[in-house]
Amino acid sequence: MAKKKSYRQHIFYDWCKACGLCVAFCPKQVYRRNEEGQPVVADAAKCVGCRFCELHCPDFAITISAVDAPSRSAAAHTAQTSIEEAADER
Ligand code: SF4
Ligand code: SF4
Repeated sequence: MAKKKSYRQHIFYDWCKACGLCVAFCPKQVYRRNEEGQPVVADAAKCVGCRFCELHCPDFAITISAVDAPSRSAAAHTAQTSIEEAADER
């Protein structure tokens, strides 16, 4: 079975104006608001990577990244290896 993907939430507090949109739009209650109204990650494991928080932040203060996702160069290497293996089998 495929391993469940994990995601990391990066919050850039210098840009955050504490509007709360990210907290309101997250369907999994990953965030809670601190005393200043800014988001803090309450439960990162619930994140499904939908990026609603990132897309709705008016100040580009949140980014989501997949954890343990193969890098593009690793994926390209895998693709190249498959091509070479296929060529060897001919
Ligand atoms: S990517 Fe989706 S599930 Fe994850 S924190 Fe953002 S809104 Fe919530
Ligand atoms: S949507 Fe953006 S600006 Fe608003 S609270 Fe969330 S991170 Fe801060």
